Amino acid sequence: MSAALLSVRDLRVHFKVRGEGGLFPQHRTLKAVDGVTFDLQPGETLGIVGESGCGKSTLARALLNLIPATSGDIAWMGRDMKGASRDDWQQVRRSVQMVFQDPLASLNPRMNVAQIIGEPLRTHQPQLPGDEVLRQVKEMLGRVGLSETHLYRYPHEFSGGQCQRIGIARALILKPRLIVCDEPVSALDVSIQAQIINLLQDLQRELGLALIFIAHDLAVVKHVSQRILVMYLGRTMEIAPKQALYADPKHPYTRALLSAVPLADPRRERAKAIQVLPSELPSPLDPPSGCVFRTRCPQAFERCPREVPPLLEAGASRAACWLYG
Ligand code: SF4
Repeated sequence: MSAALLSVRDLRVHFKVRGEGGLFPQHRTLKAVDGVTFDLQPGETLGIVGESGCGKSTLARALLNLIPATSGDIAWMGRDMKGASRDDWQQVRRSVQMVFQDPLASLNPRMNVAQIIGEPLRTHQPQLPGDEVLRQVKEMLGRVGLSETHLYRYPHEFSGGQCQRIGIARALILKPRLIVCDEPVSALDVSIQAQIINLLQDLQRELGLALIFIAHDLAVVKHVSQRILVMYLGRTMEIAPKQALYADPKHPYTRALLSAVPLADPRRERAKAIQVLPSELPSPLDPPSGCVFRTRCPQAFERCPREVPPLLEAGASRAACWLYG
């Protein structure tokens, strides 16, 4: 296996939250990301899935130091980023770009398409002459399925799908090695979702990009990802190659998420048992002891509240569950 593009070890992002009460309120700790470990190989797509509030977006931002990590290690292209300076992170951000959830909100409404897509070039390569910036912007517009007629229009003149294409063009203009896509299709119609996912896959094949693709359900990441990491309350519940995860999910939480994914075969879909998770997602300010999933787990037993399960071998997967290992 080639050297990892990204290595993450035991990454934690904790926030101090001011508690209630009087003059001297107690501060509490919100564990948004709590001990996540994974590697990403060049050209690979890792899907990260979990309910809203499970820490996926915080994890994505911490990988780029947009939110500082509380502890743990991040190595980009073999380079340990512990103690890295602003300039060091700036260099990393040339190779790693983000695509955001709300395509319209992520584009500056006062800038036209040429300015939006060209902005990263002007920031990171200020020596480039204006006509070269424009040439590269036009080339990138073509790659994402837009045309030169769109160059001088403003974001409000485009549909959600077109805005996301503009966001992808902006992310690609610096020729990154990885794009972190934070729920890039969840604000779009289903038919447009498919177009954007197909576009990302085509670009990945063409440019050898790696992708981290964040979504809140397993149906969306199925077609894009080679491996999938399932998160719950800031922790990894399961990480597995795609085929293994969809054919034989190991963690009870993964099984519950998968049972909600519609099947293409109507007969199998009608016969399928949907597993409804009991109770609400617990507050990350007050997570359950031991296994954080235990308050909703149909298979919880006496060990689960007492000890936090590490990731344990479970066939081709690794699952944080005492049913294995
Ligand atoms: S460790 Fe226990 S509570 Fe947690 S997922 Fe496994 S069986 Fe369920």
